Amino acid sequence: MTQFSLDKALQAITERNAEAPDLSEGIGRIDQNTPEVKRRRIRQLEAAVLSQIEYLQGEPESELKTTRLNVALDRLGELRAELGDYEGAIAVTVDVRRVAEYQKVQEAIARDPSETCACPLVRVVDGASGFVTLSPRFKAQRILTEKGYLDLIRCANCGFMNAK
Ligand SMILES: [Zn+2]
Repeated sequence: MTQFSLDKALQAITERNAEAPDLSEGIGRIDQNTPEVKRRRIRQLEAAVLSQIEYLQGEPESELKTTRLNVALDRLGELRAELGDYEGAIAVTVDVRRVAEYQKVQEAIARDPSETCACPLVRVVDGASGFVTLSPRFKAQRILTEKGYLDLIRCANCGFMNAK
């Protein structure tokens, strides 16, 4: 994990909140799934996690404090990944498996969407028609990126991912 700067993170939140429109009124009338609204809501959650981290950093050193801080940092990473900020997610995430997953998603987003793995189609038994041919590649997740929402496609066979 790179050095986490709480001051910088809080500063960034303050700046973002200053430029973001106030959506607290009329929230029922707007589509909650637009990238703009989703980002706004995640940033509110991010601010809450940052204030929790600030609180924990002021606590006396203990094993419990370390555990709680690590959980809070991983949560901060999750929220940043949800925002499509994988660099920011990787910078704060403690759990190495999550870091590896974020790196794979980041690579998938950067990859040419037409690029795919070489895994062949699979023939599976189908009760009604005998056999059907299926692609091992499936829509694993809908992700928010700088390009808006994309489908993260994952190969069940080799783990290859791309986003389109
Ligand atoms: Zn594959």
